[in-house]
Amino acid sequence: METINVRTREHAQLIDITREIQELLSKSNMTTGILTVFVPHTTAGITINESADPSVARDILAVLDRLVPWREPYYQHMEGNTASHVKASLVGSSVRVIVEDGGMKLGTWQGIFLCEFDGPRTRKVYMAFQSN
Ligand code: ZN
Repeated sequence: METINVRTREHAQLIDITREIQELLSKSNMTTGILTVFVPHTTAGITINESADPSVARDILAVLDRLVPWREPYYQHMEGNTASHVKASLVGSSVRVIVEDGGMKLGTWQGIFLCEFDGPRTRKVYMAFQSN
């Protein structure tokens, strides 16, 4: 297993970590199989979406903010960051990518994003590989 540490800068932020993941993949002996990328946090997640136009990531954050307001009278979690937990569950904590000849089979416009919902913090991203 490999670990990437990602320092986030904003309270909510999507950070493209595709290059870091590919670099670790290239240094390893992983050639063909399945890569699982997992975030061990309850207020951060991981998703695959468009990396070509950065406004897509901003729009995703804006939509999540409208869906899950920061304050609601019925929230019970005492820490006060219920919205961050809900958003983390909505995007999920892992993605799986097909790896062939040492490269990830991502679409032309796809990137892998760490989704920070309660930053800034340092987040861990775990990578595990299963060969075919
Ligand atoms: Zn909490």
